[in-house]
Amino acid sequence: MPELPEVETTRRGIAPCLLTRRVIDVIVRDRRLRWPISTQFERGVRGQTVRSVERRAKYLLVGFDTGTLILHLGMSGSLRMVQSNVPPKLHEHWDLWLDSGQVLRFHDPRRFGSLHWTDSDPQLHPLLKALAPEPLSDLFHGEYLYRVSRGRKVAIKSFIMNSSLVVGVGNIYASEALFRARISPRRAAGRITRAQAAALVDGIKSVLSEAIKIGGTTLRDYVNADGAPGYFRQKLFVYERAGEACRVCRAPIKKFTQGQRSTYWCSTCQR
Ligand SMILES: [Zn+2]
Repeated sequence: MPELPEVETTRRGIAPCLLTRRVIDVIVRDRRLRWPISTQFERGVRGQTVRSVERRAKYLLVGFDTGTLILHLGMSGSLRMVQSNVPPKLHEHWDLWLDSGQVLRFHDPRRFGSLHWTDSDPQLHPLLKALAPEPLSDLFHGEYLYRVSRGRKVAIKSFIMNSSLVVGVGNIYASEALFRARISPRRAAGRITRAQAAALVDGIKSVLSEAIKIGGTTLRDYVNADGAPGYFRQKLFVYERAGEACRVCRAPIKKFTQGQRSTYWCSTCQR
């Protein structure tokens, strides 16, 4: 599933191709995404010039003078830039044709992605208005995590993956951030200390930033959006390393199931 770093990598990949370009045509081959694509999409963007390409949580926001496209990659979605003479493949559900001769093309075999057009403030759209702070923003800091976790009995790993507290901390990044902060994923959220909250916020920010940095350096015309990319996997300390030696203490990495997700950790390094 595309996580926040993959979405940010996608944003950085497509933004230079989209900005200041006019949409000369729109093609929708299949409207059946997570929600059916409204014809407002074509009416809204045709003939319009792209003014901004932003991200909020895992949504990409493509801004025009008259409104904003809000798109989500879902479980298996990806965007790529192609030349207009490249024929569409299976599962490529819509295209934005630009005056540059390039086409932004959306591919999504499982069709959990989504596409909405809004002509009012996108931050007030029902999908976005209740979202928690961005993990890489100044609003997410140790004191915030410490405060919101008081009295909470839920395990800290599930807690940081709860999108009503902070957005975009998926399973891979939660496991890795807890390792970096040396905190057991089983510890009750309400029992982390102020220093641990600060260390965990640092861990989340650094693991996400590194993933974005690495994603950005390999990006060309194809914008991939598939789990933890191979080049980032080599840098992981615990995720999908069950039975392998901890890179710090050499003890075997352990795995268990927590909230229906696999959790990986080192029981020697993390307390
Ligand atoms: Zn270890």
